[in-house]
Amino acid sequence: MDCLFCKIISGEIPSKKVYEDETVYAFYDIAPMAPVHVLIIPKQHLSSINDVTPENSAVIAHIYEVAAQLAKELGIAESGYRVVSNCGADAGQTVFHLHFHLLGGSKLKVEMC
Ligand code: 5GP
Ligand code: ZN
Repeated sequence: MDCLFCKIISGEIPSKKVYEDETVYAFYDIAPMAPVHVLIIPKQHLSSINDVTPENSAVIAHIYEVAAQLAKELGIAESGYRVVSNCGADAGQTVFHLHFHLLGGSKLKVEMC
């Protein structure tokens, strides 16, 4: 499958890894929008939130556990942060491998849309 993030998980495309376990991979965004900008992705290829089902949703809960852990490690747990997943064209999704942006380290814009 010609998927950028699958290639990052396999190491075919280099990335700055922050965390990895059996089901999840996390790495710094190449074009950060905040002082801390990490992408957390399932190793299983899911295109977007549209692909989440009762059979695979445990990984989504785990991604939030990882987000909380990384927020602590990266020093933004107390100051605050945002976890965002864009789904589809209207949300501006550009990479069609499900990912969660972990953003923090400065006062984020309040506007959500
Ligand atoms: P989306 O716009 O789909 O929600 O987010 C995709 C994100 O992937 C963007 O923030 C973009 O900067 C990031 N990105 C795109 N290509 C690469 C890459 O090759 N390496 C890394 N680390 N991030 C990437
Ligand atoms: Zn993929």
